[in-house]
Amino acid sequence: MGSDWIRIRGARQNNLKNLNLRLPLNELVVVTGVSGCGKSSLAFDTIFAEGQRRYVETFSPYARQFLDRMDRPQVDAIDGIPPAIAIDQINPVRTSRSTVGTMTELNDHLKLLFARAARLHCRKCGRPVMRDTPDSIYARLQERTCGRSQQVLITFSVKIPENFSENEVAGLLAAQGYTRVRRCAPDILEVIQDRILIVPENRARLVDDLEAALKAGRGRVSVHPLGPQGEKNDPWRFSSGLHCADCDIEYHNPVPNLFSFNSPIGACPACRGFGRIIGIDYNLVVPDESRTLAGGAIKPWQTESYRECQSDLLRFARKRKIPTDVPWSHLSPAQRQWVLEGEGAWEEAKWYGVRRFFEWLETKSYRMHIRVLLSKYRAYTVCPDCGGARLKPEALLWRLGTDADAAHARSGSPASGDHGGAVPLPGLTLRDITLLPLGRCREFFAQLCIGAPLDEATELLLGEVRTRLAYLVEVGLGYLTLDRQSRTLSGGEVQRINLTTALGTSLVNALFVLDEPSIGLHARDVQRLMGVLNRLRGAGNSLLVVEHDPQVMLGADRILDLGPGPGEHGGRVVFFGTPAALLRSRRSLTARYLRGEKSVAPEEIRPTGNPNQDAAIEILGATENNLRNIDVRIPLNRLVCITGVSGSG
Ligand SMILES: [Zn+2]
Ligand SMILES: [Zn+2]
Repeated sequence: MGSDWIRIRGARQNNLKNLNLRLPLNELVVVTGVSGCGKSSLAFDTIFAEGQRRYVETFSPYARQFLDRMDRPQVDAIDGIPPAIAIDQINPVRTSRSTVGTMTELNDHLKLLFARAARLHCRKCGRPVMRDTPDSIYARLQERTCGRSQQVLITFSVKIPENFSENEVAGLLAAQGYTRVRRCAPDILEVIQDRILIVPENRARLVDDLEAALKAGRGRVSVHPLGPQGEKNDPWRFSSGLHCADCDIEYHNPVPNLFSFNSPIGACPACRGFGRIIGIDYNLVVPDESRTLAGGAIKPWQTESYRECQSDLLRFARKRKIPTDVPWSHLSPAQRQWVLEGEGAWEEAKWYGVRRFFEWLETKSYRMHIRVLLSKYRAYTVCPDCGGARLKPEALLWRLGTDADAAHARSGSPASGDHGGAVPLPGLTLRDITLLPLGRCREFFAQLCIGAPLDEATELLLGEVRTRLAYLVEVGLGYLTLDRQSRTLSGGEVQRINLTTALGTSLVNALFVLDEPSIGLHARDVQRLMGVLNRLRGAGNSLLVVEHDPQVMLGADRILDLGPGPGEHGGRVVFFGTPAALLRSRRSLTARYLRGEKSVAPEEIRPTGNPNQDAAIEILGATENNLRNIDVRIPLNRLVCITGVSGSG
């Protein structure tokens, strides 16, 4: 069974003392020992480096130039090493385009799921927009006539192409059997498909008519109910496309990239998918709302250089009867709008407003002092077009779930990603979902019921989304949102996210090398982390984990204790075996800690120095993120510890 081990001969990287080792595959091995004893030298600099180097060598020379190559480690030989993946705590992300959603690949799954399973609602009337078929139209005709027999005229329109005359088109239609044709607009012909009574006996003929009319009318058909004298009433319109026939609004097909802010198809054009834009922040322009226009409410115009703008403002305001002696906060929204937006260009001797003033300044920004001035009033503001949703308004018309699902998932947290229409729509938009804490998100998808027919691909996607969310909650990250920017995550959070992503990709026969995955986790969550590590191993992978946490050590298949001391005093194997055997070991310092013979805080520590008893940082009414309006007093000249479960604030 020679292939079931990684065999290392003569490892001398950094302080390693010519180690010979056989590490079992498909086990969870914890490498432990005091800081600097050689844990990382063995796990990362030797084993991972060699696994990675061999993996890269399997690529062509052309592909290799794009991959990071690692130096050959100081070792005589390593055999039996599988492709290695390091999951460490380095957070390499700098771009705001990377979020928890993109890192976990959940955004990719969600965009596919939305394209397949979300329901479109009309932006004007709010009704679901679906593709009509002859059968669904027949069902709706029955609804509308409430079972009464009703005479109707089924028509469709044909556009007269350029370079064709009306007679030529009519001739072509006649050849297909359509003889009742009438011109209803300069280039549109209305063609009568049939005149028929809506009664159950006519069902087959009606469905045939509708099918033929949809085909000839390029997916559109009108059904005119006829009055008692045969007069034509306003038609009921149907469409086999994504088209609200009642409002005559056409919608695009839901391609997956419509639901991606990293794609030009889905990204809001105004902010290019960033959700915010850099612009003039009017809160900085009018920093003090108790000031009047005459009293200098518009801050940038209070200097000598722009005195002229201030007097223009007062002159035009008098003309328009806008009070210059009441506080800004008392002006009506329309009056403030007038001040900020103006009414025309300066060149036309009109009131140009604060906005055009800044536009003019932008043209002068090659001058240093103008750039300095502009920078004082610039800020990132929420994109006015998408309200921070990052997506095109059309993407927000697509919804998953019912009103009840949405209310349950949100339970109090603010809704956003509104489509800007007049009618509230049911369910959640993709944006709403990315704003939910992952724990809530998991509940939403767990109970989400996507109506039949569920094809196999949709079912797979939904399953994938559910398991990935469950993994994230399992490793104690239920408090994060998909929208959270990756660059703001801690190293421990990044590592645990990467761990769940590795689980989600169903890799097998790989070697995972991890660096203290328990870091930043409350003791409560470590057991759940163990569950995830065990599952990775259960899928046929091998794990090599550098770790100090006793729960992880005791849950391992084997422990490799290096030491005995740091630096030159380390680099040797003190113990290698099962946790049970380690507990019996006499040599290992780690074993003595695990048995509780040595504890970490034996001596009482008293504060030294003579700190001023009153000196403290006082924080009143803190409400950042999930803080509930707390007051805290933190004494100065002390070492103060803040604890709590992950995500507690
Ligand atoms: Zn509509
Ligand atoms: Zn936008």
